[in-house]
Amino acid sequence: MQTTKNYGRIALLGIGLIGSSLARAIKKHRLSEHVSIYTRSLTTLQKSKELDLGDSYHVDPAKAVKDADIVIICTPMGAYESIAKAMAVGLKPGAIVSDVGSTKQSVFKDVGPHLPSGVHLIPAHPVAGTAESGPESGYAKLFQDHWCILTPEEGSNEKAVTLISELWESCGMMIEVMDAAHHDHVLAITSHLPQLISFTIVGTVTDLQDDLKSEVTKFAAGGLRDFTRIAASDPIMWRDIYMKNKKAVLDVLGRFTEDLTALQRAIRRDQAEELTNNFKRTREIRRGVIEAGQDFIDIKIEDDK
Ligand code: NAP
Repeated sequence: MQTTKNYGRIALLGIGLIGSSLARAIKKHRLSEHVSIYTRSLTTLQKSKELDLGDSYHVDPAKAVKDADIVIICTPMGAYESIAKAMAVGLKPGAIVSDVGSTKQSVFKDVGPHLPSGVHLIPAHPVAGTAESGPESGYAKLFQDHWCILTPEEGSNEKAVTLISELWESCGMMIEVMDAAHHDHVLAITSHLPQLISFTIVGTVTDLQDDLKSEVTKFAAGGLRDFTRIAASDPIMWRDIYMKNKKAVLDVLGRFTEDLTALQRAIRRDQAEELTNNFKRTREIRRGVIEAGQDFIDIKIEDDK
């Protein structure tokens, strides 16, 4: 059920696609009395001011989190540890620290040890996005009808978990709570592996001879186009995801490589029936995704900025 309450002062550390979408959703639904924004570069800070995304703007994380009731880290995950260290002195007792990162075990490792006692760490992952980056690319409806996964540790403050759940619900999201290790395994399969395959395919095409490459670009509508769209996602963000979710990604990559080799063998041996059965099974999975209402096309709604 969607709630519309005020969550006090919120600090957003990082104001790219996800941070700026959250800032817009917070403003649209009047969820905060004060949004403070931290970003490391003056250019992005200036841009977020021009876009009127917050109420105060900072290049020092400790100043951005001062007096904040909720702090949400919205940077690539490689920056989490240094941000946690830098903001720690500014956190008030009882503050809730959360994030939007695509891997979750790493948050406990990179952020947890640097938080003062009395501060609650409730990691979250809004499973919504596009291939764009930066504060201009965000929009308030990005999160609408997508899942947000919360991965609190056992024994986490229940009130803090409820507040973070309700905040994301207020932005239109559906909530699922699970263990961080389970999250990382599920996302390795549903997101990190498909993305890695897209990078690989587009990389392979890039390595083809120039004359063939132009043909490839010309006929890209035949399936490659979707891969090129996905492979255009932010390189730093994805580098960090693979660095932070190494074990789960390597696990599913091993399984994928075996399955690919089986298909390779079926083609070589003219095993037509095996190929048909395999493709019939995957067609069913596609129908399941549509029935679950997860076949989103990320259309930006311009007047929603
Ligand atoms: P983005 O558009 O590239 O924005 C990144 C923000 O983080 C910017 O404000 C940037 O600051 C700041 N930043 C980058 N590197 C930093 C560093 N080393 N130290 C301090 N600040 C730094 O990124 P995004 O797409 O919003 O992704 C942010 C997070 O959301 C990631 O952890 C990602 O895993 C997660 N996520 C992304 C998606 C998606 O589809 N994009 C979906 C779900 C979750 P400057 O511009 O000032 O350098």
